[in-house]
Amino acid sequence: MKATQVAAPAAWRAAQVLGLLLTLGLLSGLWFAPELSLRILWYAVIPILPAVFLLQPGIWRNVCPLGTLNVLGGHWGRRKLSDRWLPAATAIGAVLLLVLVPARRFMFNTDGQALALVIAAVAVLALVGGLLFDRKAGFCNAICPVLPVERLYGQAPLLNVRNAHCAACSVCTQRACLDLTRRKSIPQLLGNRRRSLTWLHHPYGVFAAGFPGFVVGYSIVPDGPLSSAASVYLTVLLAAAISYAASYAIFRVLKVNVSVALTVLGALALGLYYWFAAGSVTTAWQLWDGTAVAIRLAAFSLIGFWLWGLRPSRQLSFHWATRR
Ligand code: SF4
Repeated sequence: MKATQVAAPAAWRAAQVLGLLLTLGLLSGLWFAPELSLRILWYAVIPILPAVFLLQPGIWRNVCPLGTLNVLGGHWGRRKLSDRWLPAATAIGAVLLLVLVPARRFMFNTDGQALALVIAAVAVLALVGGLLFDRKAGFCNAICPVLPVERLYGQAPLLNVRNAHCAACSVCTQRACLDLTRRKSIPQLLGNRRRSLTWLHHPYGVFAAGFPGFVVGYSIVPDGPLSSAASVYLTVLLAAAISYAASYAIFRVLKVNVSVALTVLGALALGLYYWFAAGSVTTAWQLWDGTAVAIRLAAFSLIGFWLWGLRPSRQLSFHWATRR
């Protein structure tokens, strides 16, 4: 697919500034008007992001306020993210996701001030990561908890968008930068493990195979008080473990290659996400019941379109080389 410049560099800069201002607005909203702010964040903004990742994770990565802070600090940072630390950084990002997302059920879905404090803390982490490491090596390309999801849904984007943060690459991340090698990010991350089922032992393989269950586990537990935290984590972990074990068995028996496996896992997780999110969004905004059906249909059509683009006849140009 030919590179598409969907916006001029100045427009991306303006969008980045707007992203920072909106984040400040969100923090004040969560503090002073939590009910409406939480509803807008969880049931309007967040449900759009997975579809954006499918279209092109670079759209979000170009404007994400945490990314902007990370790159801002990264003008001073010098350390690079080497190959050696990539699996550990991936594992930290996945664990952060595993800790933070279920916490919505007993805290962040209802406590705006707690969420504001966590967002502010993560923003500081992104900035400090930039001050210590070059460009995105200290956060966005390393321990960002959204990065594993961006990689899974963004493994074969439908659009191409220029990386608005790096006019020239300083190789802040030795391999697998999602902004530089969009379609090769996961293969580079997995390295030689992608040639056999041992990719499922890599931290990213564990994340990807467990993620559909994680989505289901999160979606089936209700919001509750802080005292429900243990049962929320137990349910989500159990569902993720079942998902991992089932994926492992199926891929092993059917000898599914890694690119097909990751495509299936991405489509499954995204389909499950929108199946449940459609209902939550409809309930949160008290919309007509048919809205949930419309959201599901739109999401499944997009996923179908994405899978159609990945059909075997197009896979020659598909992504499984290791070098940039
Ligand atoms: S494009 Fe280069 S400099 Fe920019 S984030 Fe990726 S590896 Fe770092």
